Amino acid sequence: MNVELITIGGELLSGHTLNTNAQFIGEQLAEAGVALARQISIPDDHEIIVSAIRESLGRADWVIVSGGLGPTNDDVTKKALARVFNRTLVFHDELLAMLKQRYTARGREPGPFLDTQAVQPADAELIPNEVGSAVGIILTDSGKTLVAVPGVPREMRPMIAGHIVPKIAAQSKIGVVSRTWSTTGWPESRLYEVMETLIRDNPDVSFAFLPSELGVKLRFSAKGTDAPKTLDRLANLVRPRLEDAVYAEEDIGLEIVVGGMLRDRHMTISLAESCTGGLVAKRLTDVPGSSAYVVSGFVVYSNQAKTDLLGVDPDLILTHGAVSEPVAIAMAEGATARSHTDCAIAITGIAGPDGGTPEKPVGLVWIAVAMKNNATTTRELRLMGDREMIRARAAQAGLNLLRLLLS
Ligand code: AMP
Ligand code: MG
Repeated sequence: MNVELITIGGELLSGHTLNTNAQFIGEQLAEAGVALARQISIPDDHEIIVSAIRESLGRADWVIVSGGLGPTNDDVTKKALARVFNRTLVFHDELLAMLKQRYTARGREPGPFLDTQAVQPADAELIPNEVGSAVGIILTDSGKTLVAVPGVPREMRPMIAGHIVPKIAAQSKIGVVSRTWSTTGWPESRLYEVMETLIRDNPDVSFAFLPSELGVKLRFSAKGTDAPKTLDRLANLVRPRLEDAVYAEEDIGLEIVVGGMLRDRHMTISLAESCTGGLVAKRLTDVPGSSAYVVSGFVVYSNQAKTDLLGVDPDLILTHGAVSEPVAIAMAEGATARSHTDCAIAITGIAGPDGGTPEKPVGLVWIAVAMKNNATTTRELRLMGDREMIRARAAQAGLNLLRLLLS
């Protein structure tokens, strides 16, 4: 099974837009056990699109095209498809009625551009678009299939993940089963070390280590009808080796797991954040339903704010500095006291690029978790990376410390 991708749009070539569609489509196919054979980006130019599609169809069984399905002049993909497949462009009355109805249902005036969106190549299978006005298009001829999806990522994603990849996977008859686990707090090297013999002894499973600044996702894939059983057996072997590194046996954010723990325990939380500027509060409140446990977040960037809002003793800051264990403790305990919560996460650190000293370098972060009726727990971190990375990692470490304490 040979699949190629053509991403269309001048913005991809000028560097104005990062080609995240290529990443998403490649990843979705890979997870289904199909390797994308080739990927190119081309501008919105009729002749270039026609020749690129012809060339890809000459090699591949499936060609996926993204972009250029909008109603504006610069979107010319449909005309190019009609030419390559020698089809007329026909007007779909029902499609227009459906698009108009969607607009009026939302209290919006259906514009004349919807007419353009109702014109499609003849004898095409159309993929509905739940989000926007450009439907996806599937054209088949002589055993080859061409799929065109909108460039807008949130319109493209459900079409690819829900319609196209399952079709390609079914045709390729591979039946790959993958599972992704989420870990944090352990470097990739340590994860690899404890897994090394398992990887060697299980050649029927492919292992992928997918690191980001927040942790490493582990993907296990197996092929064939026994794949689910193989992965169940493997999970039992992996689990004890990874100890507390795994926060979920699925691909989700730590804030969802921590939020679930707080909800299940009927606990409330407040945040006291300096260098992360509210990042932990943002992540926790990204989760729908978080009002059940999030009470407040204090962004206490200055020393004065630490004292005024959280009651941190100015002498403590004077003696130990704002980035210190005693101040982190006082911030966490101040947040629980002032918000009457069951627990609090406090973070104070030096995110850089300036402000570091030999004793307190950029990347030094103190986190503290205060817990009602328990001693406050602290961790000292020495984080690597630029400002954004240090902040992201500090927020993750704060959430992770709470997770470990609640486990
Ligand atoms: P289009 O379907 O060409 O009208 O695409 C509309 C918008 O989707 C563009 O303005 C881009 O912002 C975005 N877009 C198009 N192609 C891609 C791509 N390959 N990766 C990420 N975003 C894209
Ligand atoms: Mg475009």
